[in-house]
Amino acid sequence: MIHKFEKAKPVLEMIENAGFEAYFVGGCVRDYLLEKPIEDVDIATSATPDEVKKIFQKTVDVGIEHGTVLVIYNGTQYEITTFRTEDKYEDFRRPAGVTFIRSLNEDLKRRDFTMNAIAMDKEGKLIDPFDGQKDIREKRIRTVGIAQERFSEDALRMMRAIRFVSQLSFSLEELTKRALTENKYLLKEIAVERKTVEFEKLLKGVNRREALKLMIETEMFLYLPGLENSRNDLEKMLQDPFDRLSALEMWVLLIYRLGLKNESIEEFLRKWKLPVKKIKMIQKIVHYVSSRLESEWSNRQLFEAKKEVIIHTENVLNVITRNGLALGEKWIEAYDSLPIKDRSELQVSGNDLMKWLDRKGGPWLKELFQKIENAVLNRELLNQKEKIKEWVIKCNQN
Ligand code: ATP
Ligand code: MG
Repeated sequence: MIHKFEKAKPVLEMIENAGFEAYFVGGCVRDYLLEKPIEDVDIATSATPDEVKKIFQKTVDVGIEHGTVLVIYNGTQYEITTFRTEDKYEDFRRPAGVTFIRSLNEDLKRRDFTMNAIAMDKEGKLIDPFDGQKDIREKRIRTVGIAQERFSEDALRMMRAIRFVSQLSFSLEELTKRALTENKYLLKEIAVERKTVEFEKLLKGVNRREALKLMIETEMFLYLPGLENSRNDLEKMLQDPFDRLSALEMWVLLIYRLGLKNESIEEFLRKWKLPVKKIKMIQKIVHYVSSRLESEWSNRQLFEAKKEVIIHTENVLNVITRNGLALGEKWIEAYDSLPIKDRSELQVSGNDLMKWLDRKGGPWLKELFQKIENAVLNRELLNQKEKIKEWVIKCNQN
């Protein structure tokens, strides 16, 4: 067993010593079987949240109504979730409530896909009632139970299916795919935030192209924010060599392919409820991408955009214009050799300017600063106090 499981073993033992069952479950077992790096080790147990909290000293209630307690053991956090079934589903969304149970098998039954419904005990023995291992070997995504039912219980599972296609390069089992095509309209009931989480994972998966193709083929895009009318644009985007872009850059490319301009960019991103900071960042990159399609970077633009945005912009541009990666380096070099990276580096203060010109502060100061900045950036003026003084006084005389 690998290190992360070994390290978590005492957690299972402590639960067992208290008289309950405990197993590793879900993504960590799947990724372990796939020999992929494991993110978090999740644990399922027959103990109720209250019982779990009695066993460990450090716990945090993170989702107690769903049966999840966060346990901090030896400096590592573990989500420990009580075996549960889900009550009646309302409106194709998450269940109205959950019922805690004592049976592992019943808990595995409520999970979405066979590959995600495998448990592993502390010795590494697998409990796999739905043949998840076989599906993993054959790279197949198959719902636990009848796909049609499982997707109408919780429509988000359809998006999860496609994001796993993207992450794992698996394909959809036939009935799972058919049920997805038939039930995609149920996605309109799902909270945007949940869709966004899955969509962003989809955007950065190694097999994102296949996943996007499936989104188009199944017409799932019809039920995604702001994509309702974008079949042609999405198909166009499929032609782009986008495999190496980050999720952030994928948003930029998507916006470019959708042909969004000005306010409609923010409107689109708001529909996805992305954080404001991220929206601003994406808008910025979109702005520089379109300006770069017209002309090269000016020193002023490099100065304002700063390194991170320049890199993102060039990466997206390479995809759109199908250039090699070399161009980005050229502009990073240009950025690195700018005489100043920030206004604070100018060897002149507002007080200097007021003194030299014998004027009180006012809007003219800001304008003059910008002029000095541009002159320095374009190497018409050295960033030295005496030189700046000469230059300012001379300008003032003209
Ligand atoms: P990742 O590696 O991306 O975290 P994961 O499989 O761990 O993938 P999570 O969203 O962390 O995905 O969910 C953990 C487990 O909970 C899943 O493996 C699955 O067993 C179960 N699960 C999650 N979401 C659902 C859902 N909507 N319906 C049924 N089971 C789900
Ligand atoms: Mg997980």
